[in-house]
Amino acid sequence: MHIRAITATMCALGLSVAAVGAVPEHFQPRAKELLADSIELEESEHQLNVIYFVGNDREPLADYERRLSELLLYVQQFYGKEMARNGMGAHSFGLQMQENGNVKIHVVRGKKKHTEYAYGTGHNACLEEVNAYLDAEPGRRTSQHSFIIMPTYYDEQYNDMNPGGVPFYGLGINCFALDYAHFDIKHLGQNTPEGRLLTKWYGGFAHELGHGLNLPHNLGTVSDNKAYGTALMGAGNYTFGMSPTYLTLPSCRILATSETFVPKGYKAKFYSQYESPTIKQCSFKRVGDTLELYLETDANVVNVNAYIQDPPFQVNQDYDAVPFACTMSRNATAHTTAFVSMPLAEMATLRHLKKGELALDVLVQTYDGSRFRWRIPFDLSKVPADGSIDMGLPMFWRGY
Ligand code: ZN
Repeated sequence: MHIRAITATMCALGLSVAAVGAVPEHFQPRAKELLADSIELEESEHQLNVIYFVGNDREPLADYERRLSELLLYVQQFYGKEMARNGMGAHSFGLQMQENGNVKIHVVRGKKKHTEYAYGTGHNACLEEVNAYLDAEPGRRTSQHSFIIMPTYYDEQYNDMNPGGVPFYGLGINCFALDYAHFDIKHLGQNTPEGRLLTKWYGGFAHELGHGLNLPHNLGTVSDNKAYGTALMGAGNYTFGMSPTYLTLPSCRILATSETFVPKGYKAKFYSQYESPTIKQCSFKRVGDTLELYLETDANVVNVNAYIQDPPFQVNQDYDAVPFACTMSRNATAHTTAFVSMPLAEMATLRHLKKGELALDVLVQTYDGSRFRWRIPFDLSKVPADGSIDMGLPMFWRGY
């Protein structure tokens, strides 16, 4: 009733209905129910490019625009609510909206058969064509971030109850997810085959999108997991929609300076070739049952996160990394100082905590959204209760 009243007023004023997050009339009842408690999101300076990509021998699946609009708006609300809960304001990734309240989804038809855009390597050809499409007309590209959705294969292996075959992962500023006939929010939270299938693929959709919006993996601290459930960027792709799933504060700090999250008026050349941060001073200590990181760096730095993780330290072995946010201050000499306190009790989920073989990942983020990582392996069993841990020389790499 309340939303209808606002919608009526907005329409009378000739404003975009989508701007207040009102639920479009043509959405199905379950979507209206799930979006009824939507919060008003801050307008973003940039929007995510949403692409529905099909091979030249395929068509988008039935009703894709309404289904994906409902799913995208619900995920946008999830991110916005988690940002607000973490004290970062009601910011979420921006979406281009249409007059009727649907999300603007660009259909891009590939030059080749759908089998040429398969899981594993097919993303290369797809990205090339998507980027050519986005850059072909001014105003089409609304940010550097693209979310690309492809319909499932239908063959001996894949079908609507076992979708797959297409790319499904985050790759820097791009990410891939899939569509199938039952990919519909009406199944959310239902203990049915379609409901369980939806959590798997919708959780994956929300998780891969997180990667595409700059998020690394992280599991969450013991306290946060107890209070809020499962971190989306940990194992939350298996719980989203079924049981409580959340974004950690360090994840939200990254999103605050992600291109599609920054509010109207935030001007920066995103992910420009800003050189590595300068470290003016740093220390990493064990103080009783807490690890403490202190970092003094240059004024381009807007955030520092610390992650403690188990070996192996390779890509995709970091789902269990326990994240910690910093308290930060800037002094008159334009230095940024960050302090991170990491109680050992908060990382009890780490398998190697007792053995001692761990690594600290320092993630330094600059005003243009760039992230720099510096990994410091250490052996906790050899660190005295009040001792320093050797950080070595700053060895940053760009990206995650
Ligand atoms: Zn992942």
